[in-house]
Amino acid sequence: MQRLAGSPDRCDIALGSLPRVEHPTILMQAALGETFRPTSPMEVYSDDQPTFAPQSPEQEHWVPIDILLGCYSSKSRIITIFHKNIVQFATAKFNCIPADLELIVRLHEYAHALIHLGLFWKDEPSLIRSYPPGKESDWKSFLRTRSVAFRSLPAEVHEFLAQAVCWITIGMLEPLSHRDELQELFITLMERQPPHYVLGADILGKSPYADPTALISWARNPSRSKPPQGKRAYRQAAEELLRATFP
Ligand SMILES: [Zn+2]
Repeated sequence: MQRLAGSPDRCDIALGSLPRVEHPTILMQAALGETFRPTSPMEVYSDDQPTFAPQSPEQEHWVPIDILLGCYSSKSRIITIFHKNIVQFATAKFNCIPADLELIVRLHEYAHALIHLGLFWKDEPSLIRSYPPGKESDWKSFLRTRSVAFRSLPAEVHEFLAQAVCWITIGMLEPLSHRDELQELFITLMERQPPHYVLGADILGKSPYADPTALISWARNPSRSKPPQGKRAYRQAAEELLRATFP
């Protein structure tokens, strides 16, 4: 009898136990108890090497994540990773392993996508069944509502959400030694971001133990209540929704 070709690569699969979650998309969905709907965002790696022109001395040390390292387009639902810049900045600015910086950038961009396309596991059964008799699940209207909500958020809130969701996800990473390294690198990267990317000490300390449900639901609601005093108040309102669940 002829043998089939191939060798076993998945020796750690064992009946009754889940493998360690390492892939950024799966890690984020598991950490937040969410699933991308109706599909995951498409992720592409690009040889493009975008540049950033500082407008002031303060900006000279900035390495803005969404300009230089990756980006998420809610219109195309595509995550683009600028892997050449990641290697360059990992070596020249952060003295870190490129794969670690790449993982944080991917998580940051997946976090933007999750706010746009994620669905809480517990909400899925009712949503997928809520269609008129004889019809089928209406993901088009789901996407339309989500896109209106996503695009109505100011940058200050987008980056708070992405950074907070990325930070909460890193807090679930195993083994602990790698989690420690990534948390340290997240802080180093955060210190080179514009102010609206910066998470306060209390958010860093307590958000991994908090419940982000109210914050995420608010962000996804196109008719959410808007604070009257502009962007800073909008950001503070978002932060308060998370702080309200701190242990
Ligand atoms: Zn971002």
